[in-house]
Amino acid sequence: MVEVIFLGMGAAIPMRNNTNAAYLVRIGNERILVDCGPAVLQQLDAVGVSPAEITHVFFSHRHGDHALGYPMLMLWHEIKANARQQAPTLIASAQTFDALDALMRVSYGPLDGVTESAPRITVPQERIGQTQIHPNIMLTTVPMAHSDFAPSLGLRIETRHQFGNHIIAFTGDTGPNDHIALLARDAELLVHEATYSATLNPEYAAGVYGHSTAQIAGRNAKAAGAKRLALVHIDAMYEGQERVLIEEAQREFDGPVFVPVAGLSLTLHDE
Ligand SMILES: [Zn+2]
Ligand SMILES: [Zn+2]
Repeated sequence: MVEVIFLGMGAAIPMRNNTNAAYLVRIGNERILVDCGPAVLQQLDAVGVSPAEITHVFFSHRHGDHALGYPMLMLWHEIKANARQQAPTLIASAQTFDALDALMRVSYGPLDGVTESAPRITVPQERIGQTQIHPNIMLTTVPMAHSDFAPSLGLRIETRHQFGNHIIAFTGDTGPNDHIALLARDAELLVHEATYSATLNPEYAAGVYGHSTAQIAGRNAKAAGAKRLALVHIDAMYEGQERVLIEEAQREFDGPVFVPVAGLSLTLHDE
């Protein structure tokens, strides 16, 4: 069984009841946290998941809304974890790890070796990378087009055998780019950033500031042959207008489109 729990759908400046974008993917005993913003401890608590359950954390890029929760997660392990509860395996590019290490230095220092005890998988930033975290779970990281200061990676998760054949793709933060079709090819669920709306802000229709619109997300879902589209990382100025973004994406893409509420759990069933 594969389950995706949406922890937050906000962009960099979050909404009142919907903080920064983050997701938890449960696959058997593996618990992959996809991005780790400043409120991650509250976000996990809100869905009844202990930080001790997290086996892997993927950081798409260094921006605070995706990475500032890292020192908090390590702090939790220093203060709250018992001897059997290991720190999770961290997955990021070398550039992003540099930023995470700097964050740790200025926040809490070494924390009794907790930080060092967290295993690391360094993935390439400039090309596609593949990491097998379990014999039947493959992670593919794909360079996106976001920010020179904070180069970003999309994440594709593929499962097989005992977990069923499932593909989930997360764009992270990105403007339009040719890699998204590859990232999301035949995905059962595409979690695509839609920071902006081309309907409400036509001047942003081509994507702006390294971000996409709901229209772009819809086009990418169609081009990739994705089955379902979740719109996330939505600018706070659109709070209460989610319907507009959904309809905007639906004009491009025939499959189901939704804006998850924080805490929504989606189970992917075997066919
Ligand atoms: Zn962001
Ligand atoms: Zn960003």
